Amino acid sequence: MANKDQTDTDRMEKIVSLCKRKGFIFQSAEIYGGLNGCWDYGSLGAEVKRNLKDLWWRKNVQERDDILGLDGSILTHQAVLTASGHVGGFSDPMCDCLLTKARLRADQIEPQSGIAYHFTGASHEESGWFVDRDYSVLLNQPNQDENKARKTAREFYAQFLTDKQIPAKKLTLLGESTSEEKEVTHYNPENGSLLTEPRDFELMFKTQMGASADDHDPNATAYLRPETAQSIFVQYKNVMDSNRVKLPFGIAQIGKAFRNEINPRNFTFRSREFEQMEIEYFCRPEDGLRLTDEWLAKRLSFYDEIGLQKEKLHVLDIPDGERAHYSQKTYDIEYDFPFGQQELEGVAYRGDYDLGKHQEHSGKPLEYFDEQTKERFIPHVVEPSAGCDRTILALICEAFYEEDLTKEGGKQDIRTVMRFKPAIAPIKAAILPLLKNKPELVEKAREVKNLLQPFMNVFYDETAAIGRRYRRQDEVGTPFCIAIDFETMGLEEGKEDLKDTVTIRHRDSMKQERIAISDLLPWLLERIH
Ligand code: ATP
Repeated sequence: MANKDQTDTDRMEKIVSLCKRKGFIFQSAEIYGGLNGCWDYGSLGAEVKRNLKDLWWRKNVQERDDILGLDGSILTHQAVLTASGHVGGFSDPMCDCLLTKARLRADQIEPQSGIAYHFTGASHEESGWFVDRDYSVLLNQPNQDENKARKTAREFYAQFLTDKQIPAKKLTLLGESTSEEKEVTHYNPENGSLLTEPRDFELMFKTQMGASADDHDPNATAYLRPETAQSIFVQYKNVMDSNRVKLPFGIAQIGKAFRNEINPRNFTFRSREFEQMEIEYFCRPEDGLRLTDEWLAKRLSFYDEIGLQKEKLHVLDIPDGERAHYSQKTYDIEYDFPFGQQELEGVAYRGDYDLGKHQEHSGKPLEYFDEQTKERFIPHVVEPSAGCDRTILALICEAFYEEDLTKEGGKQDIRTVMRFKPAIAPIKAAILPLLKNKPELVEKAREVKNLLQPFMNVFYDETAAIGRRYRRQDEVGTPFCIAIDFETMGLEEGKEDLKDTVTIRHRDSMKQERIAISDLLPWLLERIH
């Protein structure tokens, strides 16, 4: 297994910069300083997202007889989220750094050991000012200069000075003592400062509905859904009755979800607004565990198909005590991002918990009647729940390559190439007339463009030298470049047989081959799906 903490900051910075430069992903409201945890997909990012969602939908809904689609509302009734346990329960323990006010998730702080320096307060002799308040700093490295702890403590106490002209270093610390600490999590790993006690931080975005909405009217309160799953559970009976389906069957949904994450980070990985691709697969209780393993295998083969390397995917079998209390089995599928091994998808066997809760709270029967056995029971459910944005981030990280093509004694030549699978690539083919000042080449190239455009996303480019244009397409991951040259026009002496053929240049191998224009469409269609 890869080292969970192995990170490649330099690579990640290059990826984020390419995403902006080429129009994959932008920070939301960037010109106003940015909206933290929100991202906008640019023209190429929007294509990648569409390709991924279309593929997921085709594989999981359209190519299956036992899964139906749903497109539920984002605004969610308070009662739905009360029944599911989200209202009052969907929160993360959070603590604040007493020095910088940075907010951290208490359950994500790595345990640290070292010497803690405790103080009871600080004073400023000349002005007679003093503050009476406990504070501690942890030095977590061996042989660290103890003055570092005192400096941090002075900076902390200086926050309480009324006279801001007094510098922190003029303060006298009071009541210093030390203790040895082992595997503790109440100090900020960044600066050693003491943290506040953990408090629960509500993760849902709450809103008021209707013109006359007031804060005290419970019926006016709605939430932006924190996951797509709940509308599937709530509509399970309608979907079943309107389609006359029998167990086992699934309901699939792709859509936005919102969580007021304490610490959005790692580019789009942890966002406040994101998209999920979820399936709730309803089954008989005796089939639940087997189907969970089957779904895990299916999901892994999906990731393989879209181009994530097997060696970079890891399955975590979540042990007893760490799973939700109602789940008999949960797998996390994790991927080696440049910032470490992190979750892409969860595949959980949730028993009859969700439908059971909605039946209890709504008072409406949500049981299934098996006509053969005459049994009535609440179906169990297996949930493969994937993050669309996280998958896109994984695809972008996977695709990013820098190749050194420098020739001996020549200028440094680094080729940046996004090796997306053709099905994921935002542009499938670029159409490039060799020269823009030859009207016959341009006209032919436009004909080729018109031939392909109704079937796929293509890009026409006549600016700059052809080599430069190839490189530009490599950088955005276009798998095929089609060059229209003098041979296409039948104007090259001795090569008249090449009339109405084009050069196809392959992104990864950079090899070129000639293909008749009449064969071009089927040739491409075979390769881009
Ligand atoms: P995490 O532990 O990373 O917060 P989670 O276990 O809470 O995730 P689930 O509730 O199981 O996540 O959601 C299913 C999937 O939705 C996750 O595997 C992930 O791909 C995606 N997801 C969840 N939270 C976010 C987020 N804040 N930003 C982007 N994607 C997310």
